[in-house]
Amino acid sequence: MRINCLSCGFKVELDDVYDDFEGQVKCFVCGAMLEILTDEGMLKKIKLAPAPPLTGARPGRVGGMAAT
Ligand SMILES: [Zn+2]
Repeated sequence: MRINCLSCGFKVELDDVYDDFEGQVKCFVCGAMLEILTDEGMLKKIKLAPAPPLTGARPGRVGGMAAT
């Protein structure tokens, strides 16, 4: 499935594992974090996630999803 990045408008391609998913995905174009809720391949909710703090960040990843 695809979602529209709310920040840059790019259609982000998501794998089948996101067909039933709640959490954050990262737009690889602009780097915006999007909070999505999907159910059976349908997008139920999407919003921009608050940007993670840039200072004082702990080592390791921020948020739930591995976004490379
Ligand atoms: Zn984007």
